[in-house]
Amino acid sequence: VTGYLLSTIMAGVVALAPPPAEAAPPGSETEIVEARVEVRPGDTLTALAVRHGVTVDDLRRWNARLRESDLIRAGDRLRVHLPRALAPAEPDEQWVGYYDIKPGDTLGGIARKLDVSVGDLQHWNKLGRSHVIRAGQTLRYVRPGARPPARSIGRPTRGRLLHGVHLGEGRGYRLRFPANAYTIERLKGVLQRCTERTHRRFEGTADILIGDISRPTGGYFPPHQSHRSGRDVDIGYYLVDNEQNITLRRLRAHEVDYEKTWVMLRCFLTEDRLVRVFMDTAMQRGMADYLRRNELLDEERLDRLFEAVGELRREALVRHAPKHDTHMHLRFACDPDESECEEEDGDVVFRL
Ligand SMILES: [Zn+2]
Repeated sequence: VTGYLLSTIMAGVVALAPPPAEAAPPGSETEIVEARVEVRPGDTLTALAVRHGVTVDDLRRWNARLRESDLIRAGDRLRVHLPRALAPAEPDEQWVGYYDIKPGDTLGGIARKLDVSVGDLQHWNKLGRSHVIRAGQTLRYVRPGARPPARSIGRPTRGRLLHGVHLGEGRGYRLRFPANAYTIERLKGVLQRCTERTHRRFEGTADILIGDISRPTGGYFPPHQSHRSGRDVDIGYYLVDNEQNITLRRLRAHEVDYEKTWVMLRCFLTEDRLVRVFMDTAMQRGMADYLRRNELLDEERLDRLFEAVGELRREALVRHAPKHDTHMHLRFACDPDESECEEEDGDVVFRL
C-alpha cells in the first residue's frame, strides 16, 4: 500500500481511486471491476479520465488503441477499471461489425484497432489458429453494447459505409440480394415507410423488389461503379397486371405500372432528398406520359424531373443509363450532419 500511495503522490495525482482490487471482497461495492464507459460529445481523454477518477495513463494501459492515437469520438466505448458501485451497468446488447483487410494489415494490428483479441477474431472468422489474412477479405467481429450509427463516407463512386445497417424485412418489399442490402439508418426508415405506404394504398399489390444497395462495409462491388457508400438503391418497377417482380428482368415500357411506381417515387421525393435517379429513356417517357394524362405534374416539373422530356436534359434529376430497363437506381443525399459524406459532381437535391 505504501508503494501504491508513493507512486501516486510522485506522479502528482490525487489518489481518487480506491485501493487495489485484492483489498476489496469479491462482489462488494468497492471491488474493482472492468467496465466500459462511453465517450460524450466534446470529451477529451483528460476530461474522461477526470470524470471517472483515473489517469490518462490508466486509460492507455487499459485500451490498447490509445497507445497509438489519442483520437476518440463521441459514442466510442473505453475500458476502465472502477469500483463496482461506480461502474455503469453493462448492457447485454451486442452488434456485428465488418472490417475490410488492407494491404499491410496484420491480425494483431487489426485486433488492436478493433479493441478485440486475436483469438476472438480467429474464432469469429473460422481461422483456426492461423494468422494468415489477405487484403480484400472482410473480417467479422462482435462488440458489446449498442451498434454505433451507420455512416456514409465519401462519394457514392469512391466511398465506403461504416457500420452499415441491414434493411431487414418489411411490409411491401422483398430483397433480391439480401447480402447487399446495407445502408444508413435514415434511408432504412424512408425505404420502409415509402414501400409500406404504397403497399397500403394499393390493397393486395405485389411487393416491390429491392436490388443492390451496399455491402456491409460499402466499397467496390461489381458490377457497380457506385453503390459504395450506402446511399444508392436499385429498386424494381411495379409491373402491370399486378405481376410480382422476382428477378429484375428486362422490361418493355408498357410492362411498367406507372401509377404504383409514381406513388412510391413521389414518396421518396417528398419524404426524403434524392440527388440522382437513373431510368431507361423508354420508362422516363412512359412515366411522363402517365403524369401528363392524369394532370399530376405540370410541364415545368416534368422538364426538371426527366432528362428524356423538355429542354433541361442533363440538368434533370432522372437520367438515362444503360441497363435501367430492369430497375430504377435511386441515389439519396448525405445526412446533413455527416461531415465526411460527399456528393458526386452535379448531384444536387431535387425539390418537387
Ligand atoms: Zn444501381
